[in-house]
Amino acid sequence: MEPVAFEVQPGITAIDTFFGGRERYTAAYLLDAEQPTLVETGPTHSVEPVAAALERLGIGPGDLAHIVVTHIHLDHAGGVGRLCRRFPRAAVHVHERGAPHLADPARLVASATRLYGEAQMRTLFGDVEPVPAKALHALTDGDSIDLGGRTLGVDFTPGHASHQVALTDSATGAVFTGDALGVHVPDLPVLRPATPPPDVDVEAAIASIDRIRARARSVLLFAHFGPIVEVERTCDLAIARLRGWAEAVRDELRRTDDAEEIVARLEQEALRDIRTGADAALDLDVLEERLRLLSSVRMNALGLMRYWRKRDERARPASGFGSPDDRASQPS
Ligand SMILES: [Zn+2]
Repeated sequence: MEPVAFEVQPGITAIDTFFGGRERYTAAYLLDAEQPTLVETGPTHSVEPVAAALERLGIGPGDLAHIVVTHIHLDHAGGVGRLCRRFPRAAVHVHERGAPHLADPARLVASATRLYGEAQMRTLFGDVEPVPAKALHALTDGDSIDLGGRTLGVDFTPGHASHQVALTDSATGAVFTGDALGVHVPDLPVLRPATPPPDVDVEAAIASIDRIRARARSVLLFAHFGPIVEVERTCDLAIARLRGWAEAVRDELRRTDDAEEIVARLEQEALRDIRTGADAALDLDVLEERLRLLSSVRMNALGLMRYWRKRDERARPASGFGSPDDRASQPS
């Protein structure tokens, strides 16, 4: 596929990673600075289109100075191991809790395979290669990554994943949001929460959205997909949707333990969001199908069920029966 890249803010270019073979679903971003910097990589299947776009933008193998990922889910960072071999001078920056999983992706891959199955792992993501230890830089909250002439401010923004960061560009006030606000793809005017297992935390996610709102001085740069200028409205909507979905799952859990019934309820919720948010001329079935890849309702339901059950367990006196807590993370 021809590389696709377009400027979204002065000195920030969105690059289509063609995740899942689709256009305008998942973005990486190139920051123009003395030290050229890529935010997000896409999965390993995206390495060729991203490298081709970088080359077209004048970034050769020796030129890329930094790669920063908002979190380690494979649709954002699965390709970082292979990409940093193509760009051997690049330092790889990731949340301190994500760094061990990029150095040794075995648990990350095992965890994602449990969710997606072997076949989808191959078709969607491809192999996941480790990042050499000497290239890895662990980020802590409040860090500032110096790109020469501009910086990226680091805010820990847990919720969607415990190891997610948001990045604020000093030059434009744009914020790279990762999946903190959910998924919003052009042409599909629906903001959908992204609440996959294992570590979605609704209250943390809401606090993180407010943190992003306070940082943003221009646009929100979604990984899925592109710039959104209406900061206040989008943050409000993201919180409302998240609360709505979380409450729907909580309601159902009071009534049933059956995951299928809970998934069905959340599907109704998702359809209602589409009907109230979408242009009436759009075909609802097509919309639903296109959103499924990025943010499956089933995955969101399973994540929220796990969240409420963990909360209930914490609230109960210890019974001696804990649930295994898998800290490695899944893509979304
Ligand atoms: Zn994610």
